[in-house]
Amino acid sequence: MQIALVAHDAKKEDLVNFSIAYQALFASHDLYATGTTGLRIMEATKLKIHRYQSGPLGGDQQIGALIAENRLDLLIFLRDPLMAQPHEPDITALLRLCDVHNVPVATNMASAELLLRGIWRGDLDWRHSESSDE
Ligand code: PGA
Repeated sequence: MQIALVAHDAKKEDLVNFSIAYQALFASHDLYATGTTGLRIMEATKLKIHRYQSGPLGGDQQIGALIAENRLDLLIFLRDPLMAQPHEPDITALLRLCDVHNVPVATNMASAELLLRGIWRGDLDWRHSESSDE
């Protein structure tokens, strides 16, 4: 599966710890991330991650392009719900594309955990059959 990881600054530590906890599972998938999120996770784990630009510099849009091209199966996007972001339109656009293309997306740890367990159980295998249809 192609999985993208993004976390706003206040949530980066949560996502790093999450990635450490699920490293064994993440290791068998293709990972993408915005710049700083990807760097932080790579520093804390042995995971290889394709890093895009930092979110405010266009990274969210680059991940959105993956979705538009049907090259992403799952997005974990830990947003900071308590702080306004300068790139709010990009964030909205990214989440909108997930809805347009029916890409599973988690915006908090509880949902992220459910999606990861779903991958482990094979609940998201339908993504593969959909990708190969197009
Ligand atoms: P970053 O981008 O991983 O480069 O910090 C995430 C964001 O803030 O959108």
